Amino acid sequence: MAFRVLILGGTSEGRRLAEELARRPGYAATLSFAGRTQSLEVPPVPYRVGGFGGVPGLVEYLRRERCQALVDATHPFAAQMSLHAVRAAELTATPLLRVECPPWRPVEGDRWTNVADMSGAAAALGERPRRVFLSIGRLEVGAFRVASQHDYLIRAVDDFVPDLPRARVLAQRGPFELEAEQELLERERIEVVVSKNAGAPATYAKLAAARVLGLPVILVARPPLPAAHTVERIESALGWLHALHEASIQRRGV
Ligand code: NAP
Repeated sequence: MAFRVLILGGTSEGRRLAEELARRPGYAATLSFAGRTQSLEVPPVPYRVGGFGGVPGLVEYLRRERCQALVDATHPFAAQMSLHAVRAAELTATPLLRVECPPWRPVEGDRWTNVADMSGAAAALGERPRRVFLSIGRLEVGAFRVASQHDYLIRAVDDFVPDLPRARVLAQRGPFELEAEQELLERERIEVVVSKNAGAPATYAKLAAARVLGLPVILVARPPLPAAHTVERIESALGWLHALHEASIQRRGV
């Protein structure tokens, strides 16, 4: 019987884990997406889209689908889903693993201002109008309405109409390369970059480009998450799943 895994996705790490499990015999993985983007890249495993209906919905899903492991590979800013994963795993006694890139750390030459949240980022832009590269996705752009004097270039996966008077949207999906990011910042005469501290290698190039160009960066800190067994790398997640899978085979053999 295949080992049944639910992966809460939304990151390239979640997708890569699904791809690895699709290649391995003995696993039945399902990848779950929040449904925040219009253009979904279809993964090589069964997938589902949309919320579960809070903790009770996730508990019901884990039971109905007889999930033997839950992997939280959501974006580090998807704090509600991570909290629900912890609660539902406890209630169903499902082993839970979080896969999370460590936060980015500044290196020599970086000019970072760390802020606690989006409204802190909007305030940190200051009074003087600036040309801002807003690389925070679509969902929290509204926090910058209080700083509508700036010119924003907003990068998000899908195009949308921002509720900001001086904003344009650049619809692009990562990964991004240093050379192209540097070219973009120069061409758009960007004066400051705003980013979440996502920690993902796929979206780091904008910070390296800002460093090369000597530009300041406003970096939004991650929301706090409840404690969970956490690994940084897909390889470690595969090892964790392999150990659980082996243990379940041995239990069945007894
Ligand atoms: P959230 O606040 O943690 O989640 C809100 C609700 O969305 C959850 O309670 C859940 O609904 C549903 N949900 C979230 N992730 C899900 C998944 N993988 N599968 C099924 N349902 C899921 O997350 P968010 O509202 O999506 O985003 C919060 C922040 O994270 C934003 O800053 C956003 O830009 C960033 N972010 C999120 C994603 C993503 O894929 N979610 C990707 C990149 C960045 P129910 O309670 O009904 O189960």
